[in-house]
Amino acid sequence: MTSQASEPEDRTAVPPPAAGSAVPSPGTAELGDPASPGMPSAASLGRPGTAIAEYAWERTLELIGEADVVALACHISPDGDALGSMLACARALRVTGKKVVASFGDKRFAVPRLLHFLPDQDLLSRPDDYPDSPEVMITFDSSTLDRLGLLSANARRATELIVIDHHPSNPGFGTLSLIDPAAAATAVLAEELIRRLGVPLDREMATNLYVGLVTDTGSFRHASTTPAAHEMAARLVATGLRTDEIARQLWDRAPFGYLKVLAAVLERVVLEGDLVWTYVTRHDRQQYGLPYDEVEGIIDVVRRADEAEVAVVLKEDDDGAWQVSTRAKNSVDVGAICTALGGGGHTKAAGYTSHLPVDETMARFRDLLRKAT
Ligand code: AMP
Ligand code: MN
Ligand code: MN
Repeated sequence: MTSQASEPEDRTAVPPPAAGSAVPSPGTAELGDPASPGMPSAASLGRPGTAIAEYAWERTLELIGEADVVALACHISPDGDALGSMLACARALRVTGKKVVASFGDKRFAVPRLLHFLPDQDLLSRPDDYPDSPEVMITFDSSTLDRLGLLSANARRATELIVIDHHPSNPGFGTLSLIDPAAAATAVLAEELIRRLGVPLDREMATNLYVGLVTDTGSFRHASTTPAAHEMAARLVATGLRTDEIARQLWDRAPFGYLKVLAAVLERVVLEGDLVWTYVTRHDRQQYGLPYDEVEGIIDVVRRADEAEVAVVLKEDDDGAWQVSTRAKNSVDVGAICTALGGGGHTKAAGYTSHLPVDETMARFRDLLRKAT
């Protein structure tokens, strides 16, 4: 752990913040708020989250209300949406006076360097400090139980397991599902939960939610970028957060070694018909002291190839397993292919883990791709 994420205190519950530390900000008027005449209602906007049964939201609030401690978890190797959604909800729950524990189940518990600027990382606990059998546990952005890593065992033992997610492949592995595949990010659903908790958005919550929204929509470029996504961004930006600073942190910086690894990886990129692919070894990264999470964005360079419908980047993690990132442009459902290979994701962005060598991993992928086209 480095930076703000360094050594969270040994505790399983977080006390409420000091009085006055959650300052309601201007510009947080809610949709449909009677105090804000002229604001359209959520329903009239077809806001994502409205697809979730009203009963599920009500039951969620009931369960949170009855719990002594609410245990939050997001998927392993957390991205901006997973960590941002969880931290925003952790802060909101703490504002209501609830004890909260928040974590993710990586063996090497560390917030990726890219996300070190996220606020409220002092709310994180290590997975070893997580309640063994939580009375109420909420998962964020995790498409399967396995994606909770070490915490999947705790989730199995939880009395109530509330699953908040937007992956179409999510089977609904909890006792209660708040799953909306139409939501651009899990952050959309996290914002809805915070609204229903009656907690006004402050700049810290908004920053975490914005990071989730902006990363999962690819800076408002993906098809998931609906009017509702922009409206949510407007509510978040109105709290005074710095969109320029967030963009710089997320996309406009990297250690020098990244450039060298990128050069090596692009040197070996292959175009096979409408498939473009390459791989990043552990050795590539070790030469330049690059941690695994630094190479996650390489898929965004590779997928630019005009000639290709599908892009694949195999990334060898520190345990020697291949984490496979896949992207499609129009006609192929890579989510279905990755689900068939034991992973998951969205139609146009999905992934899985392979324990086979590069050649065999690609042979299996090509085989399913051929059948899908
Ligand atoms: P990535 O390529 O890592 O950016 O992941 C793209 C999408 O695939 C995300 O929505 C992930 O949640 C999903 N995904 C990636 N790896 C896995 C995996 N091993 N198992 C399930 N889903 C995955
Ligand atoms: Mn995610
Ligand atoms: Mn997501």
